Amino acid sequence: MDWKSCSSCKKPIAHGGKYYKCSVSTCNSVRLPMIFCSVGCWDAHVPVLNHRANVWAIEERAPAPPGAPERRLVRPTTAPVEPDEVLIVASRLKDFVKDRADFNTAGDVMEALSEIVRDATVDAIANARLEGRRTIMARDFRRR
Ligand SMILES: [Zn+2]
Ligand SMILES: [Zn+2]
Repeated sequence: MDWKSCSSCKKPIAHGGKYYKCSVSTCNSVRLPMIFCSVGCWDAHVPVLNHRANVWAIEERAPAPPGAPERRLVRPTTAPVEPDEVLIVASRLKDFVKDRADFNTAGDVMEALSEIVRDATVDAIANARLEGRRTIMARDFRRR
């Protein structure tokens, strides 16, 4: 199925195919835009329309045919979580300790807390699985 045809030689331009348009705005009117199958065809219209010297052809791509499958957005894959990765927002925890007691927080606290969070989450997963769920919930973390 063709999209449009060349304004110069009338050769068809395919959907999704390459075409050229003119850098002059009056050649790109919404009603009757000029499109060319090749730079040669674009070149041919320049003297006809009396363009000034400073014009060029712009390479474009014809739109995909209607009904063609839309290109899916590929969600970027997230990096896998390292087994010893810090899962705590350090700045917020430090703020909490500061607000609560005006104490400082050593860097390795994040690792220790991450370990606790990991263990508790593994238990929560086990609990959810026991109840036939694939979503862990707050109640899976409540101490029994
Ligand atoms: Zn042409
Ligand atoms: Zn033109």
